[in-house]
Amino acid sequence: KAKKNGRNRIERYESGMMEDAVKRRDLEMDMVRALKEGQFSLNYQPLFNLPTRELVGFEALIRWNHPTLGLVPPVEFIPLAEETGLITEIGEWVLNEACREASHWPGELYVSVNVSPVQLHKTDMLRQVTRALAEHGLTAQRLELELTETAMVDDGRRINATLTALRSLGVRIAMDDFGTGYSSLAHLREFDLDRIKIDRSFIDSAPDDVSSLAVLRAVTMMAKDLSIATTGEGVESEEQLARLLDLGCGTAQGYLLGRPMTAEAARALMQTSDAMQQAVAGIGPGQL
Ligand code: C2E
Ligand code: MG
Ligand code: MG
Ligand code: MG
Repeated sequence: KAKKNGRNRIERYESGMMEDAVKRRDLEMDMVRALKEGQFSLNYQPLFNLPTRELVGFEALIRWNHPTLGLVPPVEFIPLAEETGLITEIGEWVLNEACREASHWPGELYVSVNVSPVQLHKTDMLRQVTRALAEHGLTAQRLELELTETAMVDDGRRINATLTALRSLGVRIAMDDFGTGYSSLAHLREFDLDRIKIDRSFIDSAPDDVSSLAVLRAVTMMAKDLSIATTGEGVESEEQLARLLDLGCGTAQGYLLGRPMTAEAARALMQTSDAMQQAVAGIGPGQL
């Protein structure tokens, strides 16, 4: 009897897995089609200098408008795209699209592009970046690449060589979601970085969360000592913005300052940057 129950359990488990596998395969085929049919687009979230509150650039964030599922957020398809390897094609599309769009922006603004660890390991990023910049006539100084710490884990030496080559072009390298991976601080020494983006969880913490504040303070101080720029991610309140300013963080990003928006809305925002400088403090979430 026990055996029979056990088998049922296994069958249930397996049929669940089968459904999952079918769903994943569907989604995978859908992603292939999405690339061909132009269902992906990029949103742009503004980045502001502290303390001047000037607009300095935008982070490009992928969006998938699925024909039946509607808007699928990146957390739901990027991991699968990484597992199946399709991220290399999606990533190349993102890089090209972001460079194309940024080539229409005023020259002082930069675009920041997320790069998956899989892209870094499986593709020739140096060649891809060189080509994208040349094709769209974008100077390297106007492109920043955001990598997560997981990209640094395997084959650190080869990755480091790639990053060094990219930096010698003039492209800047940022470490995204800083503080969420393990041995974050060790990576600061090991890799040449231009910027760290301090993860939202440290910015977002309650005012009485002493340990998050301590991390925030330590990270900004160390970055300053190492001449690495800092961006605070996920700024949602004036209080958080004031804290970052106080700690000497150089750039801020978050719903308080502007949500991810269409390329068109981003271009409109650039035109009103004068007004922005005065108005941004008073602009609440969702108004941009
Ligand atoms: P990320 O690179 O850390 O991007 C920041 C995420 O935080 C974005 O979510 C953004 O909408 C969100 N965010 C910004 N400000 C705030 C805030 O004030 N509060 C809160 N709660 N959230 C805020 P999104 O667009 O859903 O992207 C999620 C993640 O998906 C990104 O995290 C990145 O890891 C990945 N991703 C997005 N686009 C791409 C891409 O083109 N390529 C790759 N490889 N990954 C991407
Ligand atoms: Mg990012
Ligand atoms: Mg981030
Ligand atoms: Mg993040």
